[in-house]
Amino acid sequence: MTPTAADLAAMRRALVLAGDASAHEDVPVGAVVLGPTGEVIGEGRNLREITNDPTAHAEVVALREAAAYLGTWHLAGCTLVVTLEPCVMCAGAILQARVPRVVFGSWDAKAGAAGSLYDVLRDRRLPHRVEVVGGVAEAEASALLRDFFESRRD
Ligand SMILES: [Zn+2]
Repeated sequence: MTPTAADLAAMRRALVLAGDASAHEDVPVGAVVLGPTGEVIGEGRNLREITNDPTAHAEVVALREAAAYLGTWHLAGCTLVVTLEPCVMCAGAILQARVPRVVFGSWDAKAGAAGSLYDVLRDRRLPHRVEVVGGVAEAEASALLRDFFESRRD
């Protein structure tokens, strides 16, 4: 499975959003939701620190914005593009929103739920399964996270 030109453009935007998150000490993760015709209908960045909301991961923020834009929780035909492999909570939110396709940047061996530690998005026991394209712009997405954590160790 390869990313489309729209996926790559959305990943560029998600990387910018991720960088914005680090400005307020949140782990740099950014996400974009593309609508059925490929337009951006939702954006999010990790807001956990700045809002004291444990669920304010970039994916959840972007899914909420996309659902508000479309006027429905059912995000049929949409693609979620995120800089880091979704965690278990976000994978759950993706399934709840019925998002059919996810593109992500960096793999997360410690907490990833889209193929690394778990594969919630493609678990055959669940009724909704998701097409997953991982490792897109991985070098940049990983560097952003690495730089963030290294700068905090000083
Ligand atoms: Zn998450």
